[in-house]
Amino acid sequence: MSGLRKRYAMTVDTRLCVGCKACVLACKAENDVPDGFCRDWVVEDVRGEFPQLSAEIRSERCNHCTDAPCVKSCPTGASHVNEGGVVLVTHGKCSGCKACIAACPYDARFVHPKGYVDKCTFCLHRVKNGLAPACVDVCPTGTLVFGDRNDLESDVSKNLRTRRWKVNHLESGAGPNVFFLT
Ligand code: SF4
Ligand code: SF4
Ligand code: SF4
Repeated sequence: MSGLRKRYAMTVDTRLCVGCKACVLACKAENDVPDGFCRDWVVEDVRGEFPQLSAEIRSERCNHCTDAPCVKSCPTGASHVNEGGVVLVTHGKCSGCKACIAACPYDARFVHPKGYVDKCTFCLHRVKNGLAPACVDVCPTGTLVFGDRNDLESDVSKNLRTRRWKVNHLESGAGPNVFFLT
């Protein structure tokens, strides 16, 4: 363990993901996500021209950004940084103004039918109880790894040290904490 504060992060191994979407279904069930919305989603990126095609499948969600534009843009303080750097929305404080939705470079937020803005929480309610996020737990291929990137012994840290990785929208400067292993 390092002496640093916890900084939760996720690695997504694009070499292992088969696009089964079990992560999406598990999240919906765990977090009671309403029909027509999702907190995580699967992108299938096909590149090149036939017959030289390559495909990358990515399970995506909120990046729990280190310098989160959604938090900075929120006029009520509903969007905030919680334990381990996890970005959460306090439902009762959310006015539904959508400033955070406009500010998020990742399109990670939606307005819940109950009026507040909702998104991935890294399943902090499970993590606080020593469990993995629901999506991580259910993934049949081990694509998703969650942990404290400030802990040098964590699998997330090891992946970041030993594998090549990239992030989405690096140019946004938001400091994403979801890393795609390539
Ligand atoms: Fe990929 Fe795992 Fe999600 Fe299936 S459950 S789409 S393998 S990340
Ligand atoms: Fe906020 Fe979007 Fe970053 Fe998540 S991905 S912390 S919603 S700016
Ligand atoms: Fe959904 Fe939890 Fe995974 Fe976030 S960490 S996508 S809330 S299952």
